[in-house]
Amino acid sequence: MASNEFEERRRAVAAGLAERKLDGFLAAFSPNLRYLSGFTGSNGNLLLAPNAAILFTDPRYSIQAAEETSCAVRIAKGPLAMAVAAAIGRLGLKRIGYEPERMTCAQYEALRARLPMRASLQPVAGWIERLRMVKSPGEIERIRRSVKLNSRAFEQVAARVRRGMKENGLAADLEYRMRRLGAEKPAFETIVAGGVRSALPHAQPTAAALEGLVVVDMGAFLDGYASDMTRMLFVGSPNAQVKRAYKAVLEAQLAAIDAVRAGVSAGRVDRAARAALRAHGLDRAFVHSTGHGLGLEVHEPPRIGKGEKARLCAGMAITIEPGVYIEGWGGIRIEDTVVVTDHGCEVLTPTDKALRVVCPRA
Ligand code: ZN
Ligand code: ZN
Repeated sequence: MASNEFEERRRAVAAGLAERKLDGFLAAFSPNLRYLSGFTGSNGNLLLAPNAAILFTDPRYSIQAAEETSCAVRIAKGPLAMAVAAAIGRLGLKRIGYEPERMTCAQYEALRARLPMRASLQPVAGWIERLRMVKSPGEIERIRRSVKLNSRAFEQVAARVRRGMKENGLAADLEYRMRRLGAEKPAFETIVAGGVRSALPHAQPTAAALEGLVVVDMGAFLDGYASDMTRMLFVGSPNAQVKRAYKAVLEAQLAAIDAVRAGVSAGRVDRAARAALRAHGLDRAFVHSTGHGLGLEVHEPPRIGKGEKARLCAGMAITIEPGVYIEGWGGIRIEDTVVVTDHGCEVLTPTDKALRVVCPRA
């Protein structure tokens, strides 16, 4: 990311301070910190004021911080809160916005107790997360590369799935291939769940052998940006009921993708998926929302769910992932990543969406 892109983002925050009646803003949440400064360390605070951008971190990160950010860097020897409070005093800031959902009570108290007289902390929820919803062309390019890598890892492993393989073995192979292809790490714990366990939307892989419906939900981080995809395998020969349900979920997924366009509400996209499932009598088996934003986090705003009024904007990267889950039978989910455009969307995920049948019975 060009360093001027970070500066541009910081300028947008500085320009938004006055209307929020703030003199400064303190970012403490890692993805927001990275978005505004480029710093990728695990411990940092970023203080922004109209004429200041100071990154506070500890001595473990002194070399890294200087390399990654064009902000002024302060290496705190003690608690970050002490250094932050001192800077607030030096700059004469009175009302400082903070991220209430991103700070622990202990962090908040540590900072509040050290603030100079007449300085106060003001909760500002979700501000940077809202700025992050619409991606720049550079960010979309990173998401595109992450999605491609993730799909390549899936292809390399899916081609070698055989009867007798275990859920946790398949998950390990997928994560190994991601890393070999250059990913920093999985974007979340890879989900591989077969048979009746596929009905658990967020199942953890077990030592069970793959059998019947197998849901594979996987994502990688590449250059800080997440990918997220779900595909279905079937080990054995799918019966008519499985084929019908698979067709219904695919129809729902395509209907939701078809509904994506700048200006449309997120709830409208969710409704399209549910209507398609209702036509097959399966809408009540769809127990989660249709999708979510992704970027520096794998789950970030906007939420593509029931009744969501937020309008989609060109440049948002979102997932579309309807599914059906039937206890004692199994589950089916199909998930792609798409980028919203003025007239529709671009599906980034290149992986074929047909049910992959492995080792059918003769
Ligand atoms: Zn997923
Ligand atoms: Zn997802």
